[in-house]
Amino acid sequence: MTERDKYERKVGRQWEDVLNLARSQAPLDEVGDEAIQCLTKALNKTGGLPCLEGIFDIVESAAPTTVQLAALERLLKVALDVDLRIENPCLFMTKGDMCKSIASIKAEDSVGDTVTCDSFPLRLPNGATHCGHCTSCILRRLSLRAAGLAPFDNHAKYQHDIFGEYQRLNQRSKFDIHLVRQQVWTFTKIVNDEYPDAAVYSQFPDLYMTSTELSAKLGESSSDITEHLVDLLSAYVAECDQYL
Ligand SMILES: [Zn+2]
Repeated sequence: MTERDKYERKVGRQWEDVLNLARSQAPLDEVGDEAIQCLTKALNKTGGLPCLEGIFDIVESAAPTTVQLAALERLLKVALDVDLRIENPCLFMTKGDMCKSIASIKAEDSVGDTVTCDSFPLRLPNGATHCGHCTSCILRRLSLRAAGLAPFDNHAKYQHDIFGEYQRLNQRSKFDIHLVRQQVWTFTKIVNDEYPDAAVYSQFPDLYMTSTELSAKLGESSSDITEHLVDLLSAYVAECDQYL
């Protein structure tokens, strides 16, 4: 067993203890079903021994993330009496906004060394590391363009150029760009609606739960949180209109 395996087992046992403690010390509704589900998924995914990274993988990939993070905070409080506050400084930022911070720390030269692709690792003989047409590749290029960082990306590492070679791509390769554009169209309808605050929850009912949780967590009114969400959609639509 490697040192890494030993570490993961140790952390996994600690998380199992937290889960069992939470179950024994508090009714489930006090801890929150979301936290229990989150930890249970992590247990199943890792064969019974969740590591910390595994749990946050689950949290990151599941929506609504904010609700699960808040549930995890409650779980730690109930099980271990730990006052852990999980902050997300990028909560109301687009990926393009987040990429702008790369320039602010003068790390532009590292952009070409990074990989963001659903098919990673491609292991192609020509050295391409990005398929170029999955949603992750599309959003990566959109965000880097929006942040003014496209010149720092390594374009030779894209197997397909969804922007430059669109007409030559086959239907499968065009599928995800259609999905992204369809989503942008949905967001555009919301932000242009006469009542965008109602339209956003009508289109995405789960966001209402997220909004309620954020309102309690951040101490802001529900209407302010809704305004932030609509502003976020507007910013994303503007990026897509300009750069996609
Ligand atoms: Zn890709």
